[in-house]
Amino acid sequence: MTETATARLLIIGPPGAGKGTQASRIAERYGVPAISTGDIFRANITGGTELGKQVQAIIEQGELVPDTLTNEIVADRLQQEDAARGFLLDGYPRTVEQVHALDGMLSGASLDAVVLLDADVDAVVARLLKRAEIEGRADDTEEVIRHRQDVYAAQTAPLVELFSERGILVSVDGLGTVEEVAERIASGLDAKLNAPVGQ
Ligand code: ADP
Repeated sequence: MTETATARLLIIGPPGAGKGTQASRIAERYGVPAISTGDIFRANITGGTELGKQVQAIIEQGELVPDTLTNEIVADRLQQEDAARGFLLDGYPRTVEQVHALDGMLSGASLDAVVLLDADVDAVVARLLKRAEIEGRADDTEEVIRHRQDVYAAQTAPLVELFSERGILVSVDGLGTVEEVAERIASGLDAKLNAPVGQ
């Protein structure tokens, strides 16, 4: 891509689909920062900040942080210099309200593509239980994992249709090795970003 081109990208998919792993690869490929709301929240919890204290219990229960708070954090992050030529958002937007807020933040500029990392519930639950043994995330207990899947189905999955209607959805099968999935994403994204609008 040329120096002046932008890449405003999102990755969306159920908890455990591997968004974080793929997000850093996509970000590197397009030369944009990967911005994960989950990572921002976790860093604040670890750092014991005021924000961290506000969101800790919510996250440990697998609930969503309120839209107003989340929107504020993303708006702030997108104003930083490194996001001027694009970004890859991971874990945001997660509700219809957040989609509208993001549209407002971009003030007329549109998103270029949305990667849907698709995977069935049983596969992602199994993955998260395995990750729990390694990373020990407080929201990776079986009960909370199941709840996060329900929250995704109710609040976030409907956004896929919305992005599809906008003609910017790139749907990718999230099952396979990290390499295989990365290749699927790269070819899907390249095709979408080079395609005439609406295709
Ligand atoms: P996962 O996709 O595995 O659930 P994330 O790191 O994306 O992991 O998110 C972890 C938690 O952080 C979520 O369950 C939620 O509590 C909170 N969170 C992250 N992003 C958002 C968001 N956009 N809106 C509300 N809450 C969020």
